[in-house]
Amino acid sequence: MGLRKILTDAEPALHKVCKPVEQFDKKLHALLKDMEDTLIDSGGVGLAAPQVGILRRVVLVDTGEEILELINPSLLETDGEQVGPEGCLSVPGKYGLVKRPYYAKVRAQDRDGNWFEAEGEELIARCFCHELDHLDGIIYTEVMERYLTPEELEFDEE
Ligand code: ZN
Repeated sequence: MGLRKILTDAEPALHKVCKPVEQFDKKLHALLKDMEDTLIDSGGVGLAAPQVGILRRVVLVDTGEEILELINPSLLETDGEQVGPEGCLSVPGKYGLVKRPYYAKVRAQDRDGNWFEAEGEELIARCFCHELDHLDGIIYTEVMERYLTPEELEFDEE
């Protein structure tokens, strides 16, 4: 297991624009493996490379069926909107109310550099947008409407 430390939003690395991945090599594959281990261990839905201190355009999204590896991803299409609670492994213990598209389609490269498209609704669309924002140094707290109160969080957990 290659667990990497998840940085909090106090770290400058989380506020920088990440560089594209150019080498689809063993080093990238090792990073993906470590990120996957770290994501599973954390119980989160997505993880972006800057959260483990690597300023490259790499994110993982757990769709519930598989862990998607998105290298150099971009948003191709969005539709509708949803307003709901959102959290981040780099902002532990807090949740905010964030407006996101209901549907999102992304284009990305896989670990070998092949381009593909992926799409999703609800939580997956939310996660695509949240993780892609990380690559541009944006944390959800900068785009949220407000933090959820402890009372609202208790209500959500029922
Ligand atoms: Zn996050």
